Amino acid sequence: MDGCDYYEVGMMLHCPNCDGKEMTLIHDKVWSIDDGNVYRCKRCDLSFIDPMMTKEQEDVFYKEFNKHVKARGVTSEESIQRYHEASLTIARERMEVVARFFQKQHKVLEIGSSTGAFLSLIKECDTSAVEPADENREFSKQFVSGSTYSSIEDVEEDEQFDIICMFHVFEHIREPGEFLKRCKRLLKADGIIVIEVPHIEDPLISIYDIPAFKDFLFQPMHPMIYSVPSLDYIFNHHGLLASEVIYYQRYGLNNHLTWLKYQRPGGDALFDSMFKGDQEYKDILEASKQTDTLFYIAHKEGIRS
Ligand SMILES: [Zn+2]
Repeated sequence: MDGCDYYEVGMMLHCPNCDGKEMTLIHDKVWSIDDGNVYRCKRCDLSFIDPMMTKEQEDVFYKEFNKHVKARGVTSEESIQRYHEASLTIARERMEVVARFFQKQHKVLEIGSSTGAFLSLIKECDTSAVEPADENREFSKQFVSGSTYSSIEDVEEDEQFDIICMFHVFEHIREPGEFLKRCKRLLKADGIIVIEVPHIEDPLISIYDIPAFKDFLFQPMHPMIYSVPSLDYIFNHHGLLASEVIYYQRYGLNNHLTWLKYQRPGGDALFDSMFKGDQEYKDILEASKQTDTLFYIAHKEGIRS
């Protein structure tokens, strides 16, 4: 990346995706942890944080996920009902991008379904959910027609789904290879995996290169930050092929100008009132493939050409 120092890293550090040994240090700070660094692999293009949380730290963390989200100022919602309503706004926006994949009667498993906001929008599908946070999972049951699980390990081996979807979840997975193997076993022969992840080519990095944004973005909850080549690498490695990639820009001028002027998230009332009509700006970013979000749709190898 432009403006970043290059470091050849010794044997002790290797890419968790491809085991490559050569990487670039792209940032030397990780939100809330001491001595955190972010590297980008020169071989498969994965960006990842070091050190990562241990399994034990992670289990404790996700039991109290809502508390951490609040600490980052992403949401200030006090009740689960309010949190759900805020999630619903985001889920409706997401639905505009992925609605065409979800057909009537499809058997759908959402992993990391939180309060069930997305599932509440696909009522005509046969839905099941994996959600580790107890409070969110209990709340989501009102929207789920099938089963709810606290872990993907608990989903019965003979269950087979038309769609396994996860939105802003895959980047949280510490062992994505093992996780994809499990997903593949639960996928029908002609099924698809639909994921949404933050994109390392976010314009706040790839165009504006804002250090404060990188301090905010790189966090222990996201051990990996993906690009299309690094997703291709891991999916292909596990016999899954991309059917479609959608470059999607969630945040617009209000958010970007706020980062540029104030180096913080959350937007600004003045920018919001002035720059509501910013679809053309988002379209330009999407056309240049420099977006904050990627949707990646994959199927089993050998199923379609
Ligand atoms: Zn790699």
